[in-house]
Amino acid sequence: MLVYGGDCLSVVGTEKAYDVIVVGGGFAGTAIAYSLARSGVKSLLLEAGHLCGGTSGACAGRAQIIESETEDYLDLVLQGFRRLEGLSEELGVDLEWDTPGHLSLIRNAEQWQNYCGYVDRLVKRGVEAQMLEANALQRVEPNLRLENVIGAAYSQEGHLNPFKYCMGFARAARRYGAQILPHVPVQEVEMRGERFVTVNTPCGKFSAGVLLIAAGAWSGKLVKMAGLELPVRYTHAEAMVSEPLPPLVYHHVGMPGFYEAVHGASRTVTLGFGQHRSGTLLISNAIQPADDIDMKSTHWGMPAISHSLAEILPSFTDIRMVRTWAAPSPFMPDYLPAIGFLPGAVNVYVAIGFHLAIPTIPVLADWIANDLTAEIKTEALLPFSPNRFFV
Ligand SMILES: Cc1cc2nc3c(=O)[nH]c(=O)nc-3n(C[C@H](O)[C@H](O)[C@H](O)COP(=O)(O)OP(=O)(O)OC[C@H]3O[C@@H](n4cnc5c(N)ncnc54)[C@H](O)[C@@H]3O)c2cc1C
Repeated sequence: MLVYGGDCLSVVGTEKAYDVIVVGGGFAGTAIAYSLARSGVKSLLLEAGHLCGGTSGACAGRAQIIESETEDYLDLVLQGFRRLEGLSEELGVDLEWDTPGHLSLIRNAEQWQNYCGYVDRLVKRGVEAQMLEANALQRVEPNLRLENVIGAAYSQEGHLNPFKYCMGFARAARRYGAQILPHVPVQEVEMRGERFVTVNTPCGKFSAGVLLIAAGAWSGKLVKMAGLELPVRYTHAEAMVSEPLPPLVYHHVGMPGFYEAVHGASRTVTLGFGQHRSGTLLISNAIQPADDIDMKSTHWGMPAISHSLAEILPSFTDIRMVRTWAAPSPFMPDYLPAIGFLPGAVNVYVAIGFHLAIPTIPVLADWIANDLTAEIKTEALLPFSPNRFFV
């Protein structure tokens, strides 16, 4: 039997064989472990630190809709959004799911024109969305200073507690028989030719029919351990959270171009903020290009976010912050996730670089479990195949 005591002392019976070893205990790894375990797959999840300790623990918790660029991606996001509505019950955890809606603040006529198009598209798909001129915007968000704002695009959007999201998947996966080991980093991947054989960890070796790498920004390093290269990119993103406050904002508020900026090549603040059920105000994102993973707040980032926020939310200058943090924000060069077996490593599967992670991951995790267990594969995963980086 395998028992985990946090320091390997009580791990006995190593060299266990599993159907699938999942590396990474963020949203992706825990959701995939859950979907696999529910399909009857004998799986082991290895996480280097604590669960949700990577980028997932830095997340603002938004389940975005308006940032879905293509019709296919919007289909995926809407499917995920509907799934999130019942997920607390399914997982047996209160995910603190709320639907405050999103306001994209608009500063000029060109942005207004573009957002009219996005809003039309959403309305046609049954999503609540509308354009708000400055007067209407000021009525729904009286605390915003709208000096340089001509209006906003409102769209339906959800919000949840990211830690509960991860832990909810992990606990439910365990209930279905998955083995989940936090604080057990994969240090080496042993291959025999093109076939993965074992992973080496401080708690011994583990083998499986499939190695599934869901290690977010760290995935490039894991893929390298298997002798291959995958262009996993990341920026350094910073955020902060206030003490609990009386109601100050009623929607999640963001600037246009949020997602382009988050993965851009220059140092920038792409402001997004929203107040949570507890009253805390979560504010993101100061972005810097990064070559290495560094999870520290910077002297530039915190003042830069504060300055941007104070322009739009003047009462912010009197608010106390209780925590700041930073994390790598991972993405693939074409901004689509990479999901599937790696060419050149027949039993190594990757699930990396999620765009709009919260709404898409529960659906993608089910598709991945199907991909690994069923004879008829999920065709909708084909555009995400890592083959596109090996041509
Ligand atoms: C500030 C910020 C705000 C964000 N806000 C949102 C938002 O509102 N909505 C949204 O959808 N997305 C948001 N995102 C993006 C989202 O958080 C990520 O897309 C998502 O968390 C990625 O999840 P993941 O499981 O792929 O990676 P991670 O959560 O990073 O998980 C990977 C895990 O792998 C582990 N690992 C690494 N190496 C090893 C090893 N050798 N062995 C074992 N384990 C290993 C790491 O410790 C880590 O826990 C935000 C990102 C940032 C930075």
